[in-house]
Amino acid sequence: MNKKINSLSRYQQKRDFNQTDEPTGSEKAFDTAGNIFVVQKHAAKNLHYDFRLAIDGVLKSWALPKRPPLSSGLKRLAVRTEDHPLEYSRFEGTIPAGQYGAGKVEIWDRGHFRFAKESRGLERGELKIILTGSKLKGQYILIRPKDFKKGQWLFFKTEKH
Ligand code: MN
Repeated sequence: MNKKINSLSRYQQKRDFNQTDEPTGSEKAFDTAGNIFVVQKHAAKNLHYDFRLAIDGVLKSWALPKRPPLSSGLKRLAVRTEDHPLEYSRFEGTIPAGQYGAGKVEIWDRGHFRFAKESRGLERGELKIILTGSKLKGQYILIRPKDFKKGQWLFFKTEKH
């Protein structure tokens, strides 16, 4: 059983790879060069920012309806979306009209991340990460508050660097 392929089945089902230039997720050897994170500005029907972290061989993903915060004090909603293939961290282009997520995708920020020691983990609904991007730098938290709807998380920067 291939965990990575199963994890990407939702991604693949949503897309027609004859129509869109997005990666298929079937590439065997993809050099991740460590723990990549990427934020893609996606001018779909509603402009949003897709925040993705390379974990367990895929890009765990959240859609932020508003721009990710550059400083502490702002908490942004982050809606969990389907896992994307690692190759997606380099994807930029325009998804054609009529296709899932139609609109322009641009890389807004990209870099590496590491987990803070006290990060509880994705399954437990709390990731503490230190980002080294061009725009996003320092310690951030992704948390799934217990009283929020399924799939809704918060993303914010902490005071600590
Ligand atoms: Mn998107």
